[in-house]
Amino acid sequence: MESRAVLVTGASRGIGRAVARRFAAGGDRVAIHHRDSAELAERLRADLPGDGHVVVRADLADPDAVRAAVDEAAARLGGLDVLVNNAGVFGPADPPHPVFETTYEQWQQRWRQIVDTNLLGAANAAWCAAQHMRGRGGRIVNVSSRGAFRGEPGNPAYGASKAGMNAMGQSLAVALAPYGIAVATVAPGFVETDMTNEHLKSPRGAAVRAQSPFDRVAQPEEIAAAVHWLAAPEAEWASGTIVDLNGASYLRS
Ligand code: NAD
Repeated sequence: MESRAVLVTGASRGIGRAVARRFAAGGDRVAIHHRDSAELAERLRADLPGDGHVVVRADLADPDAVRAAVDEAAARLGGLDVLVNNAGVFGPADPPHPVFETTYEQWQQRWRQIVDTNLLGAANAAWCAAQHMRGRGGRIVNVSSRGAFRGEPGNPAYGASKAGMNAMGQSLAVALAPYGIAVATVAPGFVETDMTNEHLKSPRGAAVRAQSPFDRVAQPEEIAAAVHWLAAPEAEWASGTIVDLNGASYLRS
């Protein structure tokens, strides 16, 4: 297959890094997006198999920065064939916000921060990427979450942002199909990354693993494999789908 130009957001670590590695291993050129991890991103770029990989920077909550980063990725890669909307916030650095343990000001601040990044950042990246895919086709793959379906009682803005992302992906799948752009979404359960390490190492770790009848959580490479397939030329017919990647820990009807 011809080398494609692929932009992966939040690619300096975790699932994004595994996704970047997977595309590069398949012969594609990858734009590694990061916010404040220049060193990690550069190290990954140097480490990826193949040539032509680049690093771009943006705070996804800043619409102008998103546009500049997507345009820069397309300029340096020679166009854009795939966008993976992976970056997101949830983890220890982002304290949960249960209703009765949060002031009204904190509540608003948490919702704004999470929605700005997880939903609006992804929507803006999709708009910008679509401008480059128009006329040549492309793929957009969103990294959502099981939490969109199962609920996130301590972190409701996260669950809502991912539910919004699911709906966005379905709408864009219909809107962009006439342009040869397929849009799909993955909804992982727990994955072993920086986002979840603290949970997994805590006394709650065993219970988290036991959520799946496989008694483990996912590795980032398992998510990357699904993202890579959904971005493949032969996956056009999966456009509009939301793929559960949660080890049978949550079955939606
Ligand atoms: P991670 O925290 O290791 O990586 C998230 C990446 O997003 C980081 O590189 C971070 O810098 C970047 N990011 C966050 N906010 C940003 C912003 N405003 N601007 C630019 N970049 C920003 O987490 P991960 O586990 O690799 O998560 C990747 C994606 O997978 C996220 O969207 C997350 O919601 C989703 N997800 C993760 C899990 C899990 O269990 N780890 C489960 C379901 C879904």
